[in-house]
This record gives sequence, C-alpha cells and structure tokens, in this order.
Amino acid sequence: MKAVVGGGIAGLAAAHRLQQAGHEVTVFEASDAVGGLAATYETRGDRIEAFYHHLSKSEETIVELAEELGVGDRVEWRLGENAYYVDGVVHPLDTPWEIAAYPHLSLYDKFRLGMLTLEIDVRGGIPDFDTYDDLEAFEEVPIKEFLLEHTTQGVYDYFFEPLLDAKFGSRKEDVSAAWLLGRIKFRGERDLLRGEILGYIEGGFGVLLDALVDAVGRENVVTGARVTDIEFGERVEAITVERDGDAVEHAVDDVVVATMPHLLERWTGYACDIDFQGSVCAVVGMDESVTDTYWLNIADEAPFGALIEHTNFVPPERYGGEHLLYCASYIQDTDEDLWQMSDDEVRDLWLDGVADMFPEFSREQVTWMEIARNPRTAPVYERGYLEMVVPYDLGEAVAEGLYYAGMATRAQYPERSLNGAVVAGYEAADRLLGRGGGTVE
Ligand SMILES: Cc1cc2nc3c(=O)[nH]c(=O)nc-3n(C[C@H](O)[C@H](O)[C@H](O)COP(=O)(O)OP(=O)(O)OC[C@H]3O[C@@H](n4cnc5c(N)ncnc54)[C@H](O)[C@@H]3O)c2cc1C
Repeated sequence: MKAVVGGGIAGLAAAHRLQQAGHEVTVFEASDAVGGLAATYETRGDRIEAFYHHLSKSEETIVELAEELGVGDRVEWRLGENAYYVDGVVHPLDTPWEIAAYPHLSLYDKFRLGMLTLEIDVRGGIPDFDTYDDLEAFEEVPIKEFLLEHTTQGVYDYFFEPLLDAKFGSRKEDVSAAWLLGRIKFRGERDLLRGEILGYIEGGFGVLLDALVDAVGRENVVTGARVTDIEFGERVEAITVERDGDAVEHAVDDVVVATMPHLLERWTGYACDIDFQGSVCAVVGMDESVTDTYWLNIADEAPFGALIEHTNFVPPERYGGEHLLYCASYIQDTDEDLWQMSDDEVRDLWLDGVADMFPEFSREQVTWMEIARNPRTAPVYERGYLEMVVPYDLGEAVAEGLYYAGMATRAQYPERSLNGAVVAGYEAADRLLGRGGGTVE
C-alpha cells in the first residue's frame, strides 16, 4: 500500500496521481474533514473557506486539475479590487487614474514603482530589462535595502511596508529581495483599466476538494486518522495511525508525507529550518457591506493585518444574500497576545477595529462570526530560503520510499498556494513513480 499522510490538497493531489498510475493508495487525515488550510464553513448558500482564497492567473496546474475532474467550468475569473487605508481614508488602487490620484506617492514614486513591477531597472537613467532575471543574485539582499535602492523611500513607506507588515510582521526585515521579485513575476494578470483578475471556483474550493476525494475514492480517504510514527530501515516499512483512541500499524511500500515539516522531523529526524507563521482569521457574516473593495491593505494602526471583503469579489447572492468579511492577522509566535486571546476576545477586538476604521459599521449588522487559527500557515521566506526546502524524494536523506509534498517544498515558493500544493503533490508522486519530476530538488 502507498500511504499519503495528510488530506490537504497536496496529499489528495498526490493520491490522485498515484492512483491514476494504478497504485492502491490510502490517505490518512488527522482531522474530521479533508481540506486542511482550504477547509470551509457552511453559509446560507455556498460554502466559504475558513481562510480567504483566490487563484492567480499564472496558476495553471490547479485549473487543469479542475478540468480533469469535471469541474473546470466552475473556475471563474473575477476582478479582485485592491485599496489602501491610510490616515482614515480608503484609497482604491486599481485603475491608472486611481493610482495617479493616490496622494501618498509622488509622480516620481509612482514611476519607480511602475518600473519595478514591469521589471525594468531604471537606476542610472538607462533602462535595463535583464537586472531582475536572475533571482539568485538577490537571494541574500534584504528586501528593505533592495526597495530603497531600486525604488524610493515613499514607495517603501506607502506601498510595500504595509504589505510586508501584514504578511511578515516582525519578520519583514528577514525576507529576501529574491522573494519579492519572484512574487512580482508570480502575480497574474491585470486588466489595465480595471485592476487585478483573480480566480475562484463557483461554489468555493470545497467543490474541487470534493471532486478530488471522489476521484481518489471516499473509501481510500480515512479521516480522524492521525499518523503518529513512521517505521523505517533502509526503506520505509510501516506507519502508525491513531484512530478512535487505537493505534494501529499499517505496512506500507511507500509514504508521501503531505503535512508541515515539523512532523517529518518528529517521525524521521529530517530537520527543516524553515520558520512558519501562524494565522488567526475570522469570517464575519453581515447583512450589509462594510468596504467597497475586495482587498484592503492597512497602512495604519489596526488590530488585524488586512480586511478582505469576499463578497466584493464573489457576489453575496451566492451566500444567501449575506456579506462576508475576512479579518486576518499572521502571528510569528504562539506567545503573541492575539494567539493567547479567546475567540470572544478576538471577536471584540476585531469588531471594534472595524468600527474604528468604518464609523458607519455597527455590530448589529453582524449575523455570525467564526474564527479559525492555525499555528503553521505560511513560510517566512527569509534569505537563503531555497537552501532549506525539503526534497520531494527523501530516499537519500532518510529512507527509500519516503517522499515529501508539504508546504516546505520548492513548489510552494515564492508563494504558498493551492496550485503550489497540487504541484508539490504531483512532484512527490512522480518521484515515487520513477518519473523524475520537473524540478531538481
Ligand atoms: C490565511 C491564508 C490565506 C491563504 N490564501 C491563499 C490564496 O489566496 N490562494 C491560494 O492558492 N492559497 C492560499 N493559501 C494557501 C493554501 O491554503 C495552502 O497552500 C494549501 O492549502 C496547502 O495545502 P497542503 O495540503 O500542503 O497543506 P494543509 O492544507 O495544511 O494540509 C495538511 C493536512 O495534513 C493533516 N495532518 C496534519 N498532521 C497530520 C497527521 N499527524 N496525520 C494525518 N494528517 C495530518 C492536516 O489536518 C491537514 O489536513 C492561504 C492559506 C492561509 C492560511
């Protein structure tokens, strides 16, 4: 039997690939439902992800998977509007005239920002189109130093710093310029006159997860089954699975681990030095909208990192007419106050925060609120990151027959995503199938 540990999208994609090649596969998922970070809540209409999700236009593997599973017609591309909240004012930043009107950047700042996003180096007055091609050259360059040299202080203060604060918090100074450049390349498509085009699945990403589980076969996906150990000598031999209080050992031919890497270390001793940030993320159901944008970056004091009004991206009619707002924050450490707070405390803090920013917002418009937390949700893409990624094939490092498809893989750089998880699942499965896979790690 081939065992896949973890029923997130990476584990399910790996299982699907292995099964297509004719193998008998069992997926062991610790929680009661599949989906991992892409798990969903019920609403009055479609399900909604506990953590906000959309696709970028450059992400093709997941779209191909959706097509293969018969749900390709549900992939939809929509305008995902962006705005910045500065000094009590929301500044939409989608169209050229909105960008031109943004008062916190000078014309010169906007020119330098525009050139960087087009990957044109204008330092010294002569445009250079090749400077940013070799990302490795920027791997050791701190992001702030890079931005101050390649753009301006204004661009840093009023464009990038709020984004970096929201994404990396106190770890922002550790992130490399290579990550930023990779991120700029990764970004998908813009409609020049309207803004960024993002992907979603009609009915939510749960539709894709369901289709994957159907393809793998419900009987081959065991939920409530926590893997607690992997036995190995030269080769993997067995895994121990706890279910309903009983620990059972299952003999295995191969194992794909599709969880966070600290579990790999616990079971096999393979240490991965990547640090992960946690997330606290609320979905607030409301009978009225609160912002006019999908994604609101906050360049101001606020108790959360960003506000994401999902129903300004996907229409509220899909959710029985309710408006859905995500309030979200990353945490660097579980000692942080936010992590230590009870759900009721987070609820009070965040709804007060929304009311401070939007005086017309009233708690009475809130119909429900769910808070999700996970201590490991995103890597800190610090300098030297790529040297720390875990190889897909751990045959040499640990034991033959051991493969890794979790978030610490190369596929999840420069941004961890659902698409990256599918690619990681495929890469690990391909190594197992002796197909080599597309990348070197
Ligand atoms: C706040 C936030 C926003 C995001 N936004 C986006 C976005 O806009 N677009 C996008 O594409 N992606 C986004 N992502 C990222 C995306 O959710 C992840 O990249 C993807 O879901 C990772 O899938 P995975 O299968 O690798 O890991 P996970 O989803 O973490 O799955 C791992 C699974 O392993 C299980 N497991 C753990 N331990 C054990 C054990 N001992 N035994 C058995 N099972 C175990 C877990 O329960 C889990 O189900 C976001 C994530 C977060 C947190």
